[in-house]
Amino acid sequence: EVAAHMMAGRESQAEAALEAMLHGAPPSRAGEVYLVGAGPGDPELVTFRAVRLMQQADVILYDHLVPEAVIDLARRDAERIPVGKEGGGAHTPQEEINAQLIDLARQGKRVCRLKGGDPYVFGRGGEEAEALVKAGISFEVVPGITAAVGCAAAAGIPLTHRGLVRSVSFVTGHCRGGDALAESLDWDALARPGHTVVFYMGFRNLPEIRVHLTSRGRDPKTPVAVIENGTQPTQRVVTGTLADIGERVEEAGIHPPALVIIGEVVALRETLMPTPKDAPATVLRLLETESVV
Ligand code: SAH
Repeated sequence: EVAAHMMAGRESQAEAALEAMLHGAPPSRAGEVYLVGAGPGDPELVTFRAVRLMQQADVILYDHLVPEAVIDLARRDAERIPVGKEGGGAHTPQEEINAQLIDLARQGKRVCRLKGGDPYVFGRGGEEAEALVKAGISFEVVPGITAAVGCAAAAGIPLTHRGLVRSVSFVTGHCRGGDALAESLDWDALARPGHTVVFYMGFRNLPEIRVHLTSRGRDPKTPVAVIENGTQPTQRVVTGTLADIGERVEEAGIHPPALVIIGEVVALRETLMPTPKDAPATVLRLLETESVV
């Protein structure tokens, strides 16, 4: 508590908390909630602040998108509660998550709500924050590296590029109901050349996305990348064009979570592919297997 006050520049509160500790008074603590972005999966892409709050929290509520390697950064004795969201498996309704956050905080607990990527990018973090405000619970939001940014770097795709691409859109490709996708987005704007479009949750609707964009004049030769498990050891990248990406993805057997990047910048991957950072480890692992020896 003292450290937290100091880090936030609240020196007098830090001093008071320290005094209270020195005089043996029980720490008086109202519960609070941290809405924390866990980043795209690589634990090294978690922020210092996220780790500090994960270390402080009494309980962690995490999404299915957050890999174990990240959850492992939490305090060892913290209670861990999975709250499955989309993509199969157990699914906890949003209202129930909100109620659980409020209930735990009212018990005086420090609650870390750990979300994939950034809590305020297609993460329903805004809804959770609204519920907390309504309930009068104090909370803090910690940004995380969102999937678009993490996957782009890991796949060697700059989202903008001087002289080539001046704007980028983050779009949700997930919609309930048949025609919803057609109506919910400004396809004319997305179809403009020289504009990068990143689809979250859009992988399953790739055929429709292709039709909407090409029917508004986007060149079928526009390059597309689909990134599965971006920034994680299991990352796979499939590239193609608007015309053929559907078949390529099917051939490769890509599964969610996958991110779709559409635009001229995808072609830069050819020259900007990052050097695999775990190359030595991979080589060592291979050397250990009999087939290679
Ligand atoms: N708040 C999250 C997004 C949640 S929506 C963020 O800021 O990143 C879930 C979608 O994000 C998935 O369907 C997928 O399209 C994308 N996504 C998240 N993590 C990903 C990853 N590591 N690799 C590929 N796509 C990812």
